[in-house]
Amino acid sequence: MCSETGGIRRFYDPHMEDAQLRATGRCLCGAVTFEVRGLLRDVVLCHCVECRRWSGTYGAFAAAANDDLVVYGDALRWIESPASNRHARRAFCSECGSSLFWQAADAERTGIAAGTLDPPTGLQRAAHIYTHDAPDWDALPEDGLPRDPDSSHVPRWT
Ligand SMILES: [Zn+2]
Ligand SMILES: [Zn+2]
Repeated sequence: MCSETGGIRRFYDPHMEDAQLRATGRCLCGAVTFEVRGLLRDVVLCHCVECRRWSGTYGAFAAAANDDLVVYGDALRWIESPASNRHARRAFCSECGSSLFWQAADAERTGIAAGTLDPPTGLQRAAHIYTHDAPDWDALPEDGLPRDPDSSHVPRWT
């Protein structure tokens, strides 16, 4: 049985059966679990206001192609990200409140809150974005990562 919820599968899709499992993850309570059956993008750290309000701190997102992300559980809820300049929406677990996914309108990939992935992920931190929105307590580390890179900067996919 396969159905669609805004481009994300809620139930197992037999077409995904042969695709190699790359990663698994879940919310705090386990009512929402997911699998990634394709490449994952390295983790981008987002200091924007909306990630901060949504997660309580800065955002840390891996990403996967929408077609590679399989989500299980009826507790997943999507909300509009109210002031997003990319008309994004965000998904969370309605049972425990865990922040899970981020998706720009008409995007072909979905951001995955990195902390929801089961380690080891094989991922690295790739960049800081929206650094001008970082609040006073969020001092950016001298980690050598690109800050607000232009579109020529493409994080690694593994
Ligand atoms: Zn949950
Ligand atoms: Zn953000």
